[in-house]
Amino acid sequence: MATMEWLDVLAAKALDRELPTRDEALAVLAGSDDDLLDVVAAAFRVRQRYFGRRVKLNFLVNVKSGMCPEDCFYCSQRLGSGAGVLKYAWLRPEEVLASAEAGVTAGAKRVCRSPAAAARPTATSPACRR
Ligand code: SF4
Repeated sequence: MATMEWLDVLAAKALDRELPTRDEALAVLAGSDDDLLDVVAAAFRVRQRYFGRRVKLNFLVNVKSGMCPEDCFYCSQRLGSGAGVLKYAWLRPEEVLASAEAGVTAGAKRVCRSPAAAARPTATSPACRR
């Protein structure tokens, strides 16, 4: 079955509130990059039905940026990174609050704060706590 055809079938199932099978979900993940816009178009039909053009705005306050003592190779905030990210130590509580209020004023429904490695990862738990 051509890509558009099976995506049409999958979108029709979703519009009928029917879950994809495991194989169908895996087929989406395994699709070629060349098919990506077809996947987006199929997903948009479902989104349009249930959510229209509404979006939900979340706002992230980065309470510390760059200067992480860890060295996760992929991360722009890692120790020794040459990436052009902002670098600053912990914001003061009143600065965090002011940023959060700016987000809410801008229409955010949820405000999160994210410190680079707020809780220092341990050797057994190297996952970032951002
Ligand atoms: S701990 Fe988090 S912020 Fe720090 S380098 Fe790793 S991924 Fe980046």
